[in-house]
Amino acid sequence: MTRALIIGGGIAGPAAALALARAGVASEIFEQHPGPADEAGVFFTLGSNGVDALGAIGLREAAMDRGFATPAIELRSGTGKPLGVSRITTTREDGTPSQTMRRAELYGILRDRAVAAGIPITLGTKLVTAADTGEGVVATFDDGSTAHGDLLIGCDGVHSRTRTLIDPGAPRPVGAGLVNFGGYTSGVRVDTEPGTFRMIFGSRAFFGYATAPDGTVWWFANEPTSGSAPADLPSRDAAELRRHLGALFRDDAGPAAELIAAGHDLARPTLTHLLPHLPHWRRGRMVVIGDAAHAPSPSSGQGASLSIEDAIVLAQCVRDLGAVPAALTRFEAIRRPRVERIVASAARVNSSKAATGIARRVRDLVLPAILRFSGAHGIEDTYGHRIEWDRRIEA
Ligand SMILES: Cc1cc2nc3c(=O)[nH]c(=O)nc-3n(C[C@H](O)[C@H](O)[C@H](O)COP(=O)(O)OP(=O)(O)OC[C@H]3O[C@@H](n4cnc5c(N)ncnc54)[C@H](O)[C@@H]3O)c2cc1C
Repeated sequence: MTRALIIGGGIAGPAAALALARAGVASEIFEQHPGPADEAGVFFTLGSNGVDALGAIGLREAAMDRGFATPAIELRSGTGKPLGVSRITTTREDGTPSQTMRRAELYGILRDRAVAAGIPITLGTKLVTAADTGEGVVATFDDGSTAHGDLLIGCDGVHSRTRTLIDPGAPRPVGAGLVNFGGYTSGVRVDTEPGTFRMIFGSRAFFGYATAPDGTVWWFANEPTSGSAPADLPSRDAAELRRHLGALFRDDAGPAAELIAAGHDLARPTLTHLLPHLPHWRRGRMVVIGDAAHAPSPSSGQGASLSIEDAIVLAQCVRDLGAVPAALTRFEAIRRPRVERIVASAARVNSSKAATGIARRVRDLVLPAILRFSGAHGIEDTYGHRIEWDRRIEA
């Protein structure tokens, strides 16, 4: 029986393990953290394509039970001028929405299902190196232990070790030029439809917020930065964060300053890293998927969905093509064009978030036109994508 070594227990890792199990392939997950990561306060929107792809591993409904459905994003300038509305879901016959949820909840449902399926998960084990023997692959971890398998799947995120084992010359992730902040506010009413995000290109930073069904407002902010190291981040002390963020949005129209002042459960500020193009996704019996292969700007709202799609398609390729190098070649041929299309369009949005001065004024003028032209085709292609689990993958 084929056995896969899966490096990383985030989103792509457990999704791949569950899809491989459905395809009759055994696997084991190795995760460097000894327990759940510090994800307090962090939320994201899983695109309808990601929610749909979870159906292949029986988790579509579980995902739809978390958080709230998010049909659209309204864009505004810092002066309050409406810049346009972007749909972030398609009208599928089965009503699958894009769903905003705490990131820890998605990690939780994937890991719980993997545990329930009897998939071994070794925590506190960090991949250091791996050797492809031609017959199989041997992974070595930081505690000196080793594991043997027929293939190794690097689901180890944007700072992937597997990526450099596949290609020591692989490009390194680059800073997106934005610091991420987030939090929740109760008892403040805002003027948006429940579920819909309003995003504001403020004079100093970018702000987004949406109301959950219980009336809590979920919000995030992106501040342009030239830093790319943890030392460049503001303190995570809540009072200091409120002061810092309040100053960023004090001149902008909208409820940002009020939401920040009353905010709770503030997320730890983080830097975003991107990996726009990776020349080699695989070598022999090793492959990277998810952020390890392609980390789009968070502006795309697609990183998690693409990771889940990768996991399902990889399992289909292993199921139908068996022989490992051939399955990995086919996997890349299927996935690369779609992923790179989405990564490229996300990069355009990211640079408009970091725009300042004249660039900001130009952005406010051209963005409405871009939104009109980026319409139905892009939305359908991204959010309407469907993976048919039973469809046979041909060599
Ligand atoms: C601020 C922000 C907002 C975002 N918003 C959205 C959004 O709205 N919608 C969306 O779809 N996506 C969003 N994303 C992106 C999304 O979070 C990622 O695309 C997704 O988490 C990728 O999943 P992954 O499994 O590939 O990597 P990860 O979730 O990063 O998991 C990688 C795992 O590998 C482990 N690991 C790393 N190295 C090793 C090693 N050597 N050995 C063992 N284990 C290792 C890590 O500890 C981690 O658990 C956002 C990202 C950020 C930063």
